[in-house]
Amino acid sequence: MRVLVVGRGGREHTIVWALKKSPKVSEIYCAPGNAGIAEMADCVSIEETQFEELCRFAKENKIDLAVVGPEDPLFAGAVDALEAAGIKTFGPRKNAAIIEGSKVFTKDLMKKYQIPTAAYESFDRYDDALAYLHAHQAPIVIKADGLAAGKGVTVAATMEEAEQALKDIMVGKAFGEAGNQVVIEEYLQGQEMSILAFVDGETVRPMVPSQDHKPVFDGDKGPNTGGMGTYSPVPHMPQSIVDEAIETILIPAAKAMCCEGRPFRGVLYAGLMITENGPKTIEFNCRFGDPETQVVLPRLKTDLFDVFMATVEGRLEELELEWSDEAAVCVVLASGGYPGSYKKGLPISGLNDVQNAIVFHAGTAAKDGQIVTAGGRLLGITGMGATIEEARAKAYAAAEVIQFEGKHYRKDIAQKALDAAKQ
Ligand code: ATP
Repeated sequence: MRVLVVGRGGREHTIVWALKKSPKVSEIYCAPGNAGIAEMADCVSIEETQFEELCRFAKENKIDLAVVGPEDPLFAGAVDALEAAGIKTFGPRKNAAIIEGSKVFTKDLMKKYQIPTAAYESFDRYDDALAYLHAHQAPIVIKADGLAAGKGVTVAATMEEAEQALKDIMVGKAFGEAGNQVVIEEYLQGQEMSILAFVDGETVRPMVPSQDHKPVFDGDKGPNTGGMGTYSPVPHMPQSIVDEAIETILIPAAKAMCCEGRPFRGVLYAGLMITENGPKTIEFNCRFGDPETQVVLPRLKTDLFDVFMATVEGRLEELELEWSDEAAVCVVLASGGYPGSYKKGLPISGLNDVQNAIVFHAGTAAKDGQIVTAGGRLLGITGMGATIEEARAKAYAAAEVIQFEGKHYRKDIAQKALDAAKQ
């Protein structure tokens, strides 16, 4: 079978890596891919949102399955375009990708179908929003409706901070049209966790849980990033909580989308807060997380191509997913300065000296036969082992072997899991 993966990040490298293990897959193309993906697939220089070119390429190359990784092409209708061209495609259509694209849509959906989430109200007029804010107390959370690259959410500790965030979004138009509406919601206290699941409409097949580390520095200090590292399993998260989240959040969300005439097919990612009153939804994403994928897919024993096909064809009910008992830890190596400004084009050495770990590329490029830095998050290094400790040791040993100017990575990935085990 011939597969086209759309995207260029660590998530897509991991998808390509997992598909490569399938005896059913004979050819993998990636548009546009990155320097690491190029070592295991044919990269084609088509951008993720150049739908006409993607469709032409897919038809000319007799693609049996396309897989769309990132959110932007999903929101823009990549799956709809490829399907219209007769290509089977893994990922939600535009009318289902809205579950990530609009916070107002998703909060209203959760209210209508009684899916646990923070109490909220949404507004399209600044004066109304301000009046609502003044009738409540800090801490409180202000969210721009649309996409704002993770920056549209303010968890305000004080009323002044909340007022400023609201003004920036609705008056200052800090996020443009994404801020035409806002959600103001109750502050939730608890541990954060994400659960990803394959969904083919009604059937939900959860993946193993994982935990991300968003802030750039150790001890969860500094600004938020796209994710500095992950681990799986999450031993301090009881299975009963995971089961409750699946029963009360993921399955009802899939059903709700069907009832709304927007069946969701692809990866549904639930960002959860585990509160005193049980799991509550913070957000849904409509695709694999990055870098969650780098620890989840290496633990999947079932052929990923079979899972993708079953999802696309609505046959997930027939398929039980098998997972490895091994632990996985992913450490992200980033450019110095990220998530602020950073240099590009710096040579990366030591990639071929890595042992006992998998190196997934993200913001890398090949220049004159040398792999160079080309982004903020550059590499995700996944170690696997019988325990989290062993997996972590392998990831960190590899992280030390790879060198480039300004290398930055967190030294405390999975520390929470190790600390919890000692208690
Ligand atoms: P992402 O960058 O993950 O896509 P986003 O912009 O979609 O984020 P959310 O996931 O809704 O925004 O919120 C970002 C972060 O803000 C959450 O991971 C969580 O830490 C915090 N947060 C959001 N809503 C709440 C809430 N109601 N109570 C407490 N913290 C919250």
